[in-house]
Amino acid sequence: MPVRGALGGPRVLLRRLREVMAEPVSAQERLDKIVVLIAANMVAEVCSVYVLRVDASLELYATEGLSRDAVHLTVLRAGEGLVGMVAGEAQALNLPDAQSHPAYSYKPETGEEIYHSFLGVPVLRSGNTLGVLVVQNRAHRTYSEEEVEALQTTAMVLAEMIASGELSTLAKPGAEPAARRPVQIQGLALAEGIGLGRVVLHEPRVFVTNFIADDAQKELTRLDQSIDTLRASIDVMLEEEGMARAGEHRDVLEAYRMFAHDRGWLHKLREAVMTGLTAEAAVERVQSDTRARMLRQVDPYLRERLHDLDDLANRLLRELMGPDQGPRREELPDNAIIVARNMSPAALLDFDRTRLRGVVLEEGASTSHVAIVARALGVATVGQIANAAGLVDPGDAIIVDGDAGEVHVRPPAGLESAYAEKVRLRARRQEQYAVLRDRPAVSKDGERVNLLINAGLLVDLPHIAETGADGIGLFRTELQFMIAATLPRTGEQLRLYRAVLDAAGAKPVTFRTLDVGGDKVLPYLRAVEEENPALGWRAIRLGLDRPGLLRMQLRALLHAAAGRELKLMFPMVAAIDEFDRSRAMVERELTHLRRHGHKLPERMQIGAMVEVPSLLFALDEILDRVDFLSVGSNDLVQFLFAADRSNSRVSGRFDPLSPPALRALKAVVDAGRAHGKPVALCGELASRPLEALALIAIGYRTLSLSAAAIGPVKAMVLGLDVAAATKILDPLLVEKVNTPSIRERLRAFAEETGVPV
Ligand code: PEP
Ligand code: MG
Repeated sequence: MPVRGALGGPRVLLRRLREVMAEPVSAQERLDKIVVLIAANMVAEVCSVYVLRVDASLELYATEGLSRDAVHLTVLRAGEGLVGMVAGEAQALNLPDAQSHPAYSYKPETGEEIYHSFLGVPVLRSGNTLGVLVVQNRAHRTYSEEEVEALQTTAMVLAEMIASGELSTLAKPGAEPAARRPVQIQGLALAEGIGLGRVVLHEPRVFVTNFIADDAQKELTRLDQSIDTLRASIDVMLEEEGMARAGEHRDVLEAYRMFAHDRGWLHKLREAVMTGLTAEAAVERVQSDTRARMLRQVDPYLRERLHDLDDLANRLLRELMGPDQGPRREELPDNAIIVARNMSPAALLDFDRTRLRGVVLEEGASTSHVAIVARALGVATVGQIANAAGLVDPGDAIIVDGDAGEVHVRPPAGLESAYAEKVRLRARRQEQYAVLRDRPAVSKDGERVNLLINAGLLVDLPHIAETGADGIGLFRTELQFMIAATLPRTGEQLRLYRAVLDAAGAKPVTFRTLDVGGDKVLPYLRAVEEENPALGWRAIRLGLDRPGLLRMQLRALLHAAAGRELKLMFPMVAAIDEFDRSRAMVERELTHLRRHGHKLPERMQIGAMVEVPSLLFALDEILDRVDFLSVGSNDLVQFLFAADRSNSRVSGRFDPLSPPALRALKAVVDAGRAHGKPVALCGELASRPLEALALIAIGYRTLSLSAAAIGPVKAMVLGLDVAAATKILDPLLVEKVNTPSIRERLRAFAEETGVPV
């Protein structure tokens, strides 16, 4: 049996395919010609194309050898038969005796019972299966590795044809090819909001347009040269990295180097070129296989390595096709949704905010830096969407639902209009809040509530004016440290703090000293492995043990506030002496500055955060020392209930609107009043109107919230009768009540009295 037919092997086949692709014929005619060409070239009696449909079944779209009547009639359910298996596993299946395979299923209308050998390959694009290409022979034939390779190469050309949408005209309604189907994916909500728009790939897929090589030898040389350049550039990166420091990054580079010298990978690339592909098409072919494996890999370590290999292929593609054509600012559509594997905060900040509607990431956790920046920018963001960049094409319609953590790719018209309505509704509500901007938050019975914002980045500063907030109640200084590539120097810190005070003008700003450690990781500081990082070496503990960092920060803060008021607080104070020692550090810095003739802040207020439950039982002692307290409800609630705030399995398990939590919160505000010291609350609790209602009812008059919450919470305050709310709530905190939540009671109160929550 000749392995390659008289028609000249895969390269000739590819060249003929190119001609067929260019012919002005109908989609069906083109497919019919393609199967004839492949069958003849591979000396196969049968060649068939199955296309994956939106309903997950596989439909026979063209065949040479099987009964023509079966075309568009034979449909295999997901996973059915050998063809279904190839699609499901995204791997080639090469069988000399197909009928003895347990998965074999016989479709009488095709007349395939006379064929024994079977070779099926997935039609892959960016790791996604679009269909299956099959050849069959009567004889018990084992297809050679070269033939498998050749068929996979051919499948790549088919993938482009399917992805182009050309076949849609052949489909029955509801049974269209899956390539362009609407996809709904559940991910992780990282930044709230809803964005409708068009896909912009952050790392633009290098679109290989020229698949078929004219001169294989030339392509091999191109491939080899690019690999040499790639290897050299990795060596340079490793050298530079070595001079900086060891860490995660180095591991990735080591993995790159290993793969760049991996014989198996190189062999596959060269083999793909030998079948007649251009060097870049060969890289894409092998990369698509890698992606398909990655999507099916459950071992996180191996998946990570496949990711590395995917990255390496991208680098190689750029080597071959010229530098990265990143989405240029001026080319961004005015409703851009950025889709990326991951992204640095700086890259996100680089996009024109006015054109940005959302972000979709394959990775990303809620504490990741890009998520922090996305929240600050108010850009709807969803993370943990596997193969997001592979599922979309630039320009595709897409919806990011940052509230539900969902992404809809190519949404059906009905869904799109429903979401558009939601966005309109939100905008209308925002307009209503904007009207309230300059109104002070005074309740119906005359109680003034101070509403301040939580901030941490330069991009947060315009929010003070936009929302009409009373100031910044919590400036999280660690965010600057978290999004920087290297430790911010005193000068950089000083510039930021000055900008903050300038933006706030006459309104107060409360700076919190560095709260790193725990889940707040600085990439350039070696992380200490801890069993329980939330209970570990973090915040003020780190500041006191390594005073250099804190001292540098205090100096920057004191300089920035020269001639103005400086309000300062320490995070995670668990014992009174921690506060005393921190305060003493401030005093020392003040003395130092005074001695050197520097201008000092005009007024100073030094406070502590109440976020460790031990302070609840030392309120008198701490209140004797501080100028003010600020409750960090995020941490306080997690420690009260012993429920990790970043673990979604437990974080919502206990309701802060319950007697134990509210009693604790009330104890703090009551003690503050008794000592004549202000007590604020700056955790996310205050950002939800119903929760804010409860806080006001138990006595809080200063709340610091996310900027987006100022409008809704102010609207709530304006409609609230505080005395009436207190009357409802107080007894519940005094009586013996056995209820895990008083949320419904409060909601009913709000509804009855017409308070918008
Ligand atoms: C808190 O714990 O409530 C708080 C405001 O601090 P962070 O969320 O930054 O830990
Ligand atoms: Mg905290």
